[in-house]
Amino acid sequence: MLLELVPERKKESLSYELPLFNPSRKGPLDLVVVGGGPAGLAVAARVSAAGLSVCCIDPCPLSIWPNNYGVWVDEFEALDLLDCLDHTWASAVVYIDDGVKKFLQRPYGRVNRKRLKAKMTEQCIANGVQFLATKVKNVVHDREKSRVACEDGTCLESALVLDATGFSKCLVQYDQPFNPGYQVAYGIVAEVDSHPFDLDKMVFMDWRDSHLAGNPEMIRGNKKLPTFLYAMPFSSTKIFLEETSLVARPGVPLKEIQKRMEVRLRHLGIHVKSIEEDEVCVIPMGGVLPVIPQRVLGIGGTAGLVHPSTGYMVARTLAAAPVVADAIVRQLGSSRSSSSVTHLPDDLSAEVWADLWPIERKRQREFFCFGMDILLKLDLYATRRFFSAFFDLEPRLWQGFLSSRLYLPELVAFGLSLFAHAPAKSRLEIMAKGTPALVTMVNNLITTKS
Ligand SMILES: Cc1cc2nc3c(=O)[nH]c(=O)nc-3n(C[C@H](O)[C@H](O)[C@H](O)COP(=O)(O)OP(=O)(O)OC[C@H]3O[C@@H](n4cnc5c(N)ncnc54)[C@H](O)[C@@H]3O)c2cc1C
Repeated sequence: MLLELVPERKKESLSYELPLFNPSRKGPLDLVVVGGGPAGLAVAARVSAAGLSVCCIDPCPLSIWPNNYGVWVDEFEALDLLDCLDHTWASAVVYIDDGVKKFLQRPYGRVNRKRLKAKMTEQCIANGVQFLATKVKNVVHDREKSRVACEDGTCLESALVLDATGFSKCLVQYDQPFNPGYQVAYGIVAEVDSHPFDLDKMVFMDWRDSHLAGNPEMIRGNKKLPTFLYAMPFSSTKIFLEETSLVARPGVPLKEIQKRMEVRLRHLGIHVKSIEEDEVCVIPMGGVLPVIPQRVLGIGGTAGLVHPSTGYMVARTLAAAPVVADAIVRQLGSSRSSSSVTHLPDDLSAEVWADLWPIERKRQREFFCFGMDILLKLDLYATRRFFSAFFDLEPRLWQGFLSSRLYLPELVAFGLSLFAHAPAKSRLEIMAKGTPALVTMVNNLITTKS
């Protein structure tokens, strides 16, 4: 019934005159960025600001990004992007079950994706980035440059190539099977008669399952593979609602998630009058990193930047973009000022990968993957106990964990504190279900190379 209200997807676009790539250009570019998502544009804008020649290739470079991004306000403040939030909430709430809720004193915001894309596109245009509206097919490398082949027949030569194609991972390579967990969610921006949520709090997680009463099959399914509601109330009659499976392997089927959402909304007395837009979210979480280093560079979804325990990525990617961009500028700059043969693209790429994935970040990711491995094994009740203990931690710890600000020594303190806060039953669960994952993590930490 809900799905009948979903309008046909409209592609909203920006109305800029983009400087286009000139195919008769002589000589290689400094950088080809494949993919014009947040990751690609952020790097293109910064590398071009240093005077380097950049071309960004995306099939629809002017289309507004389709995803509804939510972020913690402090993350966007640190990136100087507060002007790209269109709605903020002073705090957030987590419903553990029908009796217990936790209030999170941390402001949350919804990204105005049109404004963010406009801002980044304007920076790119001002800095001389050229655009090409097509898809990349493949890349071949020789000692000194790479040739990028596109579906429209264009071939571009470049010193370096950045794969920023998100989870489609067009060019980066793996040397082991990619074995992620999946966050699957279905979201709608809806006009409703009314809803029961406070307007100054976003609903970070609602793990209540009373809506399933009387449906034993759905109760069983939700106990084994629980889903929660994530909601951003914009007004008393407009709200973003997303039924979400935090992580599962294989992912929870979308149809099941949509069914649970319908039942939940009915139970909450939310009558949807119309749907402005919907989104299907399938985020691969964890899994192996691509080969590091490799000739093609990566950022965002292509470079393993998604948080393996939460599925969040936008703030982390935008924070990593200057690291990658500055490494590119530094490496290309030093290769020009020296005739040394050590400055070949393979060496330059290796340096950029090393800046993106220093050993502390690799170790941090191992810990987050350990977190994901535990979450994969928890049923609804264990998940509730886990998050009840998680949000009882010192804010510095849970906030630092969610925003990738803690490194291994602090993560160990975080883990011990979580264990200490957990009820006895939860401790036993974590020991029983988490020990194999702990052993894997320790092994990986020992073998992690810088
Ligand atoms: C529905 C949904 C909701 C999400 N919500 C959040 C959230 O609330 N908070 C959060 O932090 N993260 C969220 N995420 C994670 C999100 O994917 C990332 O944060 C972000 O979009 C990744 O940015 P990106 O630039 O790496 O990739 P993308 O945004 O996926 O951009 C990749 C670009 O590459 C282009 N492309 C693909 N293949 C090719 C090719 N062969 N040639 C040229 N171009 C190509 C695509 O057209 C696209 O424009 C969400 C993800 C989804 C799917």
